Amino acid sequence: MRLHEYEAEEIFSKYGINIPLGGLAKTPQEVKQIAESIGVPVVLKSQVLVGGRGKAGGVKIVDNLDEVDIVADKMLKTELKGYKPEGLLVLKKVDIKKEIYLGITIDRTLGTPIIMISTEGGINIEEVSRKNPEKIFKFLVNPLQNLYPYQVISIVKKIGLTGEPLAETVIIIAKLYKVFREYDGLIAEINPLVLTEEGKVLCVDAVLEIDDSALFRHPELNKRKLDAMSERDKRLMKKGATFVKLNGNIGLVCSGAGLAMATMDMISDYPALSPANFLETGGGITSDLMVDCMELVLEQPKLDAIFINLYGGINPIHEGAKGIAKVIRERKLNIPIVAKALGNRQEETWETLEEVGVHIIKESETQKAVEFLAKLLGVKAK
Ligand code: GDP
Ligand code: MN
Repeated sequence: MRLHEYEAEEIFSKYGINIPLGGLAKTPQEVKQIAESIGVPVVLKSQVLVGGRGKAGGVKIVDNLDEVDIVADKMLKTELKGYKPEGLLVLKKVDIKKEIYLGITIDRTLGTPIIMISTEGGINIEEVSRKNPEKIFKFLVNPLQNLYPYQVISIVKKIGLTGEPLAETVIIIAKLYKVFREYDGLIAEINPLVLTEEGKVLCVDAVLEIDDSALFRHPELNKRKLDAMSERDKRLMKKGATFVKLNGNIGLVCSGAGLAMATMDMISDYPALSPANFLETGGGITSDLMVDCMELVLEQPKLDAIFINLYGGINPIHEGAKGIAKVIRERKLNIPIVAKALGNRQEETWETLEEVGVHIIKESETQKAVEFLAKLLGVKAK
């Protein structure tokens, strides 16, 4: 679960990391009120759960109080990378002397937390890690011990800090690591960590991503996540189904992640076809679950067909078929639907689906069913 910048800043601040003055606003009027109380210039920051806002126009500096609500109104209405902002964070503008990158994550190969710091902070850190990885200094933390500030002095020295800023940065790292540990973080990041003209060190952007498997240890955050989910998403999560929206033209309903991935690969062999989603039903198929699955798939505009690939080992696919048929009937669907459904009570499954016009492929190979789909749509393989 990734937190919004304003939520992460709240936590960082609770742990003693300095952030600029300001607050979250949901309307242009609120933005103006905050700007009035902290004074211009202010920075307005779109609260969306994606990075790279600076480059995409989601971070704006406003010098004039009279312009604040006009700029805010526009930003609140502007989607960023497809996401509608939850609000704007209004912060007192900081005079930046130097932008530093500071991040903590898990090194997947070694399985330990890793602290990274670089002089090349700001909006180009991804490029730095690709082109000049030697400019990022790393420190591996022993997960069985505490992190002591003295351990990270040498990497902070490597980025050229001395004196007060060196001491402050070392302490910020220790605090950020504490957040990372106590919140079961996957990523805790400050980019940029800013050295100001007055020699202060401030956190100007905050990212905190929490391991979903550990959310039960943070009831308040878990509740926030559930509150933000639709009832249907909650039902799907409870059943163990996984859905990822993609941008193709073929809706997919598959029982099993491996089956879904293989199906996606086979579909992608046809240049004119691509998956509109990844969907794996999990092991608890019921008629109701399949209604939810079908409706989720049908949310994608511009579908050319739906491809269903079910394998009934323990899964009662004949029950699932009833849910699929219900949606087709109620919505009077007329886009082509191809299904390969095998296993436990397959004959009943075929009958239910054939009754509502689904093309049933009775062979065991998914390949054959995909070839049928391609033929039906009149497209050729590469
Ligand atoms: P991101 O692009 O989504 O990571 O958004 P950031 O919050 O990191 O902001 C992007 C960039 O805007 C930063 O790297 C800074 O260069 C600039 N920026 C953000 N806040 C301030 C500020 O208070 N003062 C100044 N001068 N620049 C800022
Ligand atoms: Mn940033």
